[in-house]
Order: sequence, then structure tokens, then C-alpha cells
Amino acid sequence: MASEKIRLSGKEVYELLSNVISVSSDDFAPLFAKKLNAGPFSVLVSIILTQNTTERNALKAFKNLFGATKLNPQQVLSLRVEELSKMIRVAGLSMQKASAILRLSSYVIEKGEEHLLSEDPAKLRDKLISIPGIGEKTADVFLSLYRKYPVFPVDTHIRRISIRWGLVDKKSSYKEISSALINFFDPSISDKAHRLMIAFGRTYCRSKDPRCWECPLRKVCPHAQT
Ligand code: SF4
Repeated sequence: MASEKIRLSGKEVYELLSNVISVSSDDFAPLFAKKLNAGPFSVLVSIILTQNTTERNALKAFKNLFGATKLNPQQVLSLRVEELSKMIRVAGLSMQKASAILRLSSYVIEKGEEHLLSEDPAKLRDKLISIPGIGEKTADVFLSLYRKYPVFPVDTHIRRISIRWGLVDKKSSYKEISSALINFFDPSISDKAHRLMIAFGRTYCRSKDPRCWECPLRKVCPHAQT
């Protein structure tokens, strides 16, 4: 564990970041998908589309697929992998993502879409990550956003910021970072804190040239560069 930790509570950090950053559904494809109210399957698909790409491209791919299928699992599964891949090409890794989406469609058709809402969240997590192309982060974004389950998804922004805040160290595993953040932020705000941290990582606490001089946390962050 890093020796020096950020000198504020999670709630205080959350409030300071909320003062300078706003998160809209156009910034996060899964939030956009959830607002469409097209069901949990559509939200999971949107999360798969965000893997290793920008939200903007994921959103374009999601809109293409939604326009063609309304994200009805039966309609999605009727597509050939090449057809599906073409529709989501803008999001990159399109054959890989198309295969994952088709596998997920089969799973949802077999179990019923309601299963994504009613299954015990821990068991659902295990089942989802057993589907090739769905990893821990994808499952956790869904469980946090849609099921309000206390998990904290970890991507490169979240990892980098957690290390800079001294909550974890460079060797920490996904699970260790996720647990540290759930403990740092109250579970009641962890889902919103997750998106806020990502937006913060894109704008202030960037990988290169973090904007420490105007960061609201500069006086309490152990990694602040002056
Ligand atoms: S002070 Fe710098 S390193 Fe610390 S959180 Fe702000 S931008 Fe990131």
C-alpha cells in the first residue's frame, strides 16, 4: 500500500469533484442505453461496445445496432457475426465484440431477460464473466449501474487515480482496487463516483500532464505536481 493517502474522505472528494465535473448520458454509452429504457440486455451490450474505445465511438455503434434490431436478443441473434461486426465496426475489435454479443444473446434467450434483473448479483457476475468477451469490468459496470450492487469497476483511469490518491499501489489487483474504492466511497454513491472518477481522469487527472495546478484536490493529493 502507498505510504501517503489523500487527506479527505471519499464523500468529501466526491463533493469537490462534483463541483467541477458534470456527467451526462452522452459521455457514457451505458448511461445513454439505460435512459433509453430498452432493458438490461441493451445496457450490457452497450458496455461490451465501450471496451477499448471512446464513449463517442461506442455510442455510435450502439445507435447503429439499436436502429437495426431495437436490441431485441432474438433479432440480434438472427444476425451473422459478419453482419453484426459491420454494424459496430466504429467501436473497434468488432469481430471480437460481435462474438461476445451473440454469446450474450444466446444466454439471455435461454434464461430470459428478466434473469438479468432477478438472479442473485454475485451468481450473475460469475455467469457473465464465464461468457468469453465479458470480463470483470464489463460485469461490474452492469451490476453497479443496473443492479445497484456494491462493486466498483476498475479501468485504466480508475487504476491510475487510485494509485495517485495513495489508496492502492502499482501492484494492486483488480479486486484490491475495487474493494479499496468501495470502502473509500460510501456504497450509496459508488456508482456515481465511478463515472465521476472516469470523467475526472479524462479531464483533470490525465495519464500525461495531469492538470494539478487547477485540480480541486491539489492541496490534499499526495501525487500533486506543483
Ligand atoms: S492533484 Fe494532480 S495527481 Fe492529484 S488528483 Fe489532482 S490532477 Fe490528479
